[in-house]
Amino acid sequence: MLGIQDSWKKPDDLAQLAANAIAYADQRADVIVPENRRTQLACARGCDHCCYLPVETSVPEAIHLALAARDTFNKDALAALALRAKAAASAYGLAATNGGAPENIPCPILEDEACGLYGARPLACRGWNSLDALACEQAKERGTREVKIPLYTPLRAVYATTGTALAKGLSAAGLEASVYLAPALSAFLSDNADAVVSAWLNGEPLAENQPPRTPSS
Ligand code: SF4
Repeated sequence: MLGIQDSWKKPDDLAQLAANAIAYADQRADVIVPENRRTQLACARGCDHCCYLPVETSVPEAIHLALAARDTFNKDALAALALRAKAAASAYGLAATNGGAPENIPCPILEDEACGLYGARPLACRGWNSLDALACEQAKERGTREVKIPLYTPLRAVYATTGTALAKGLSAAGLEASVYLAPALSAFLSDNADAVVSAWLNGEPLAENQPPRTPSS
């Protein structure tokens, strides 16, 4: 039987897998929850509280973002992003050492209160939304265990089900299904990114700075 490793051998292949999943979910979201029916959402450009929460994603989506960064940013901007990702990865590592959840750590892609790679953002970010910006602000400060954010669930569900399907496919192939975005991005922006991808395709986890997952809200 063909496994995922037979079809997806290179970073480009894995990025395409993520792009396909994202395109599928975007299409479903537009049909199920049209833009003009999302008026109750509190989300708007310049409101970036959620980008300080830990983002769980898949390795293909993190690779998709890393390749988009390489295509989008010039050398200096890419180097700055890699440094921010490394700093965020260290903060995640510290949280893991202290046995806590990584909270209030800015996503390395966040720039000027907006997503610097909006078109390539992962499923978790696409589906995340809020009906209450104040709750988001409080969750940023105190963590999502303390403050629950009211969500517009139809939109969240569209992206969550696609993410779950992708994770199940990766798990079935014996691959790590879920990782934190910031440390994964740091690994895939590093000089040994190809070796990291190969190791992951051989079933090794992205151990570096990956604290234990917490159930997502
Ligand atoms: S990828 Fe973009 S939308 Fe998602 S947390 Fe990072 S900056 Fe925010």
